Amino acid sequence: MSAPRKIAAGNWKMNGTADALAEVEALLKEHAKPGCDMVLCPPATLLHRMAGIADKGALAVGGQDCHARSSGAHTGDISAAMLQDAGATHVITGHSERRTDHGETDEDVRAKTEAAHAAGLIAIVCIGETLEQRDAGTTLDIVAAQLGGSVPDGATAENTVIAYEPVWAIGTGRVPEIDQIAEVHDFLRARLESRFGEKGALMSLLYGGSVKPANAAEIFAVTNVNGALVGGASLKAADFGGIVAALGKS
Ligand code: PEP
Repeated sequence: MSAPRKIAAGNWKMNGTADALAEVEALLKEHAKPGCDMVLCPPATLLHRMAGIADKGALAVGGQDCHARSSGAHTGDISAAMLQDAGATHVITGHSERRTDHGETDEDVRAKTEAAHAAGLIAIVCIGETLEQRDAGTTLDIVAAQLGGSVPDGATAENTVIAYEPVWAIGTGRVPEIDQIAEVHDFLRARLESRFGEKGALMSLLYGGSVKPANAAEIFAVTNVNGALVGGASLKAADFGGIVAALGKS
């Protein structure tokens, strides 16, 4: 590997039943050779079925969260090994909705990410500031602390992807200025390089927050943006395909 991999990752969140798999078929039909890695993270109930479809094309599937332990009395939770068993190769850890809805701390996210690595999964570790933190001018301090606390020492370019997702841009239609995205991504790259050396230089850094086909090319032109983590626009093949196409051309 001589450059970070380009990755378009979609997070379906708590959306989708079996009929939504038609979107995956359509995506693979249109984007058989996408020019970037494509990953979709459906709800756990669809993971195995989506993995069966993905097997036939250029798509990887992932979970949206995993438990830090490999098994045990944790009703409703799913371990990284179970995701892997269902056909996942990736898992999102530390999404801001998990941090907010379930009170996940950086320490929790680090433990989940370690569990993902132990199960052979690629962790997509999410970090990002709230609007209050951005307005207070503490964005870089916040993301530095999250990066340091959430990413384990064993992270490599092969097992870890970082997603910078300003909380105020998720699902809101608001996107930071291009210079703001560039500032944070350059900062994160420098931090990754100083901690992990060459491995940090090669880790993919995704931007997430209201990415759509209309703004994707401009975002992907930013140095140190190696792709996107996409929520709403990953649900429809036409929208996600537009983002994939823009990344493939970038
Ligand atoms: C997300 O949830 O990670 C996300 C980026 O959502 P959206 O694209 O809908 O803003």
